Amino acid sequence: MPVANLIDGRAIAEGIHAETARRIEALAVREVKPGLAFVRVGEDPASVVYVGMKERHSAKLGINSRTHLLPESASEAELLALIDRLNADPAVHGILVQAPLPAHIGAARVYARVRPEKDVDGFNPVNVGKLMLGDPTGFVPCTPAGVHELLIRTSVPIAGAEVVILGRGNIVGKPMASLLIQKARNANATVTVCHSQTRDLPGHCRRADIIIAAIGVARFLKADMIKPGATVIDVGVNRIPDPQAKSGSRLVGDVDFENVQPKAGWITPNPGGVGPMTIALLMRNTVRAAELASAA
Ligand code: NAP
Repeated sequence: MPVANLIDGRAIAEGIHAETARRIEALAVREVKPGLAFVRVGEDPASVVYVGMKERHSAKLGINSRTHLLPESASEAELLALIDRLNADPAVHGILVQAPLPAHIGAARVYARVRPEKDVDGFNPVNVGKLMLGDPTGFVPCTPAGVHELLIRTSVPIAGAEVVILGRGNIVGKPMASLLIQKARNANATVTVCHSQTRDLPGHCRRADIIIAAIGVARFLKADMIKPGATVIDVGVNRIPDPQAKSGSRLVGDVDFENVQPKAGWITPNPGGVGPMTIALLMRNTVRAAELASAA
């Protein structure tokens, strides 16, 4: 039976893909084909799956994508040299360096090396700064941008809302907070960011009109931690043992979905909520990078 208060991330992502496809057609008229380079270091199983999914979506939309693989043992200098080559290649409009990187590589130096105009993942400090300043010329990281679109396209009121973000990671929590506190349309929220040192985290959650869970702890957010009618967005991806599954495990989010869903106003399923939006926003950012590069 369909659940009435579900935010269907797959359907919303399809809508964004359709908009992106029209922009790709318009570029084709000018003989521009968006190009996206993936860089993967090592064989982290989740990264293999994520990059594969992003490649398939690129191909479906007509984005030229290519994955550059380096071994786990690659040096930081080798990785930076590859990024320099991609930065200089006019056929490459977007560059995505898949996280996590091996521990011997300085992730911050790597993200800083990607030219801001090609940084479709939004992790270069120039784009991080633009997001913080509310400068719309930068690229916003795909997962928080995807969550923002889910809220907007579900018509969840954001202005004046109490938003609680669980997690202060650089990939989700911090950029999410930056987006929602801006003095701008579809923002103007009052944002609280909780983390492992937060005193009375459940108390903060119970006040929230919107909760965005991005901590990476399976089914952390329980029904008694939310206000009735709250909007709940589940970003987490956690693998838990499941003897019924063929692989012996399955993926769940940071929200105890079965118990939270009946009490929530709106809620994302997981999978099928935020994940498809991350990909949709990556495709959209890449096309925007191609539009900007070809207009210059
Ligand atoms: P991260 O950088 O590791 O940050 C995790 C945050 O959660 C940290 O701020 C940490 O607090 C906090 N935290 C951990 N355990 C906690 C607890 N028990 N109580 C309160 N706070 C706790 O992670 P991330 O990269 O932001 O990712 C977060 C989750 O989102 C992960 O499950 C990841 O797989 C998922 N994700 C999903 C997508 C998608 O497309 N669906 C994309 C990106 C990430 P401290 O700072 O105090 O350590």
